[in-house]
Amino acid sequence: MSKSKTVRTRFAPSPTGFMHIGNLRSALYAYLIARSNSGQFILRIEDTDQERIVEGSVEVIYQTLAACGLNHDEGPDLGGPYAPYVQSERKSGYLPYAEQLLREGKAYYCFCDKERTSGQEFAGYDRKCRDLPQEIITARLAAGEPYVIRQKMPLTGFTTFIDEVFGEISVANEELEDQILIKSDGFPTYNFANVIDDYTMGITHVVRGSEYLSSTPKYNLLYEALGWEIPVYVHLPLILGEDGSKLSKRHGATSFAELIDYGYLSAAIINYIAFLGWSPGDDTREIYSLQDLEQVFSISGISKSPAVFSMAKLDWFNEQYLRAMQPQDFANLIKPLTDQVFGNQDYNLPLLAELLQPRLTRLSDISEQIDFFVVADPLNLDLYRQKRSKLQPETAAIILTDLIPRLSQVTTWEHDEILAVIQTYVTDSGYKLGQVMGAIRPSLSGRSVTPGGAVELMLILDQAESLQRLKQALVFLQQNS
Ligand code: GLU
Repeated sequence: MSKSKTVRTRFAPSPTGFMHIGNLRSALYAYLIARSNSGQFILRIEDTDQERIVEGSVEVIYQTLAACGLNHDEGPDLGGPYAPYVQSERKSGYLPYAEQLLREGKAYYCFCDKERTSGQEFAGYDRKCRDLPQEIITARLAAGEPYVIRQKMPLTGFTTFIDEVFGEISVANEELEDQILIKSDGFPTYNFANVIDDYTMGITHVVRGSEYLSSTPKYNLLYEALGWEIPVYVHLPLILGEDGSKLSKRHGATSFAELIDYGYLSAAIINYIAFLGWSPGDDTREIYSLQDLEQVFSISGISKSPAVFSMAKLDWFNEQYLRAMQPQDFANLIKPLTDQVFGNQDYNLPLLAELLQPRLTRLSDISEQIDFFVVADPLNLDLYRQKRSKLQPETAAIILTDLIPRLSQVTTWEHDEILAVIQTYVTDSGYKLGQVMGAIRPSLSGRSVTPGGAVELMLILDQAESLQRLKQALVFLQQNS
């Protein structure tokens, strides 16, 4: 590639289902290689294999890229975030290149039907039609026989190229089948359209998963046949699950949509995915926004060793992003979820947000963390057996008996007032603060672990509900201990 060329990369998904983590990483790295070189990023939908298209998956691709901020730079109608190149809309553009190769004797018509080519013992097509006499070809075409167009692959020698990540890759040409360029339905094959588009769209860097490494020599032979310069190749390492096998459904959420459903933020997902196969060379820093990545990303930081996808690590990234949000933004983010828990009941969103922001891992944990505010969990005596503070159910009953009337008298139900009442009681009674709080918290929630301590819970529940729950807990303790 000459130095003066603008870097142009593309994400070329086939609309065959969800946006898997591996696909999203290909999109992200292609995007980042473009941005970090002041280049352009192109989106191309590879839908020539009409049978494999899954309805709705093109929309999933658009939505995912938009949610992650991976905006492409151009499209057939010059711009607009929802106007990528779509191969099926460009169908007529591929045939002329196949015809050029036919004219130059680098490709040939093949009239063999599927049964014949698939029933063969050896892998690949036996080249039966490779050297048919011209009269026969003309006659069979005139008779309207169905055909495909195949490329004449070299029969000897090697095809070698350097991948930026994996280094030198070489295959013996005799192992390469005479690949089909145009199918009997007139559609280009996936491989042919991919190469023609990469060249005609001026793609300088082909970025994709390493599963394409072995077919790349075939692509290069097409570039060569057409007299085109091959692009820079950047194949990305495998992504494995934590058990060392290829990441798949078994490992839990593996698509962007699933991760969002699990309650991860798209910025955290992108930050984590950036590290699945790349590192900035600065071992200490892990938090990078997309804008940061656009500055620092470089091909030399991509590793060829497989990357391991760890949910625990993604949890960590998500926590960092949640903690770093502005309190108001965090409250807005959780509101739809907390609204769902509280229904039409009033509640103190800012306070709830303050409790959750330092503790939350995934948004989907919210309901489970706060549903006790609406209906407390059932009580049990173990909640009141606390080794550290030496609390026992009997002590808890005494504490609640003493505290309920004191808390009823609080006139302004605010943090400092409630705390003052509790502290006065600690002084008066001689019980430790840990014991008193330890008696209140489970009485309000039915839990030993809650977001926020006893005072915060009482604030969210309000005075009437708090007293009601403390009284019920006291009855429970009196009846059961
Ligand atoms: N269409 C291919 C896919 O969805 C991508 C191939 C490429 O990037 O060259 O896996």
